Amino acid sequence: MSYIKNDETIFAAALRVLRTFPLCDRCLGRLFAQYGVNLSNELRGKAIKTYIAMLLAEKISRGENAVELIMELGPNAGYPISELYKRYVSSDLMIKKCYICNNKLSTLIGELAIRSVEALMKVKVSTFLVGVKKDSTMEQREKEVATILGTDSWESIRREIKREVGKKIWAVLGIEPEFRNPDVIVVLDLDKVEATLTLMPLYLKGKYLKFGRYISQMVWIGKDGAKKYKLSVEEECRKLLDIVSGINIRIHASGREDVDARMLGNGRPLIIEVSNPKNRDVDLSRVREALTGNPWVRVVVDKKVSPSAVTWLKESNPHKVYRVVTYSDGKISNIELHNLRKFFTNRTIKQLTPRRVLGRKKEHLRIKKVYEVNAKLLHSNIIEFVVKCDGGLYVKELVHGDDGRTSPSFAEFLQKNLTVLLLDVLKVGDG
Ligand SMILES: [Zn+2]
Repeated sequence: MSYIKNDETIFAAALRVLRTFPLCDRCLGRLFAQYGVNLSNELRGKAIKTYIAMLLAEKISRGENAVELIMELGPNAGYPISELYKRYVSSDLMIKKCYICNNKLSTLIGELAIRSVEALMKVKVSTFLVGVKKDSTMEQREKEVATILGTDSWESIRREIKREVGKKIWAVLGIEPEFRNPDVIVVLDLDKVEATLTLMPLYLKGKYLKFGRYISQMVWIGKDGAKKYKLSVEEECRKLLDIVSGINIRIHASGREDVDARMLGNGRPLIIEVSNPKNRDVDLSRVREALTGNPWVRVVVDKKVSPSAVTWLKESNPHKVYRVVTYSDGKISNIELHNLRKFFTNRTIKQLTPRRVLGRKKEHLRIKKVYEVNAKLLHSNIIEFVVKCDGGLYVKELVHGDDGRTSPSFAEFLQKNLTVLLLDVLKVGDG
């Protein structure tokens, strides 16, 4: 058995510890938490003390000298060794308080449970996790005792408190403990006897559509401190804050279109992260309702997701379909467009970082693919392209060539100067 130090028994190890430190049943039992199934630490401690008392009584009945040991253990262990002390040593015995918890562990657990329930009643959550702040006085003392014990059979006081307070919360409020993605973490401070809540963010998955132009994804504040664009997807999402009683939102999207591009079709996938949501038990239809009403930006929320969905969304880079209305400085024929369609089917494109974003992004060569192009003349100088390509391809540059920084480009192929007039995203991925 792993606890044994030089073949020591539980009994001998407990004796060694109790000769040095006064311990209550619960704190003594916790030192041997690894032993026994379905036993409380309190029962373990009581059993060990009772067993020691019986062995001491046996010694006495055999006429052996046990008085010195009883004198040492009586004040530290209390009942039932204290009864031997009273009979064989003196009726005057001061039982010392537990070195680790000062005999307050049970009361402390009760108080912390009350503080936790009070705090949890102010929020709407369905799962929780209990955490205990590190380095409390009790924890430090426990470490001293564990050093004397010298084995790994013990359970930490933090763990016992987490478990016991957790059980009480579950019993009183009926909300379930959850270790991976709890709605809230109840943080207990053993020194201050406080319970504070850390509400985990709420993640709502959905998509957004932009029916107008000059709408940014995030709020864009210019150098003058004013908003650069009147509308943003982010501000639209903020409308749900009241319903979930949250403090702030952050949006995570699968890429981003240019500010002047519309986002049509089935929209672009996004996840709205709401921080400090006091009401996460919210009916999603109410959230959807709050997000309607803007004729230019539409956000649709589908479901709640786990935090890992954000990574998944960020890493996915689905194909995109764009519509680009373009002006050409020379007339274009249908035959030229037919050839362009053929040339750009499954064509690899090399793009150096566009000049328009070089200030914000480093110079970098991107290799992306165009899968399919449809082109039709709206007028002899105006063409509508529909381009299906890799996510992350700069489609405006694919059209005008960015002075040769994107190659091949439509401008290069047609030998014309092309200007992008309008850009729409028609599709993101298969959604
Ligand atoms: Zn104790």
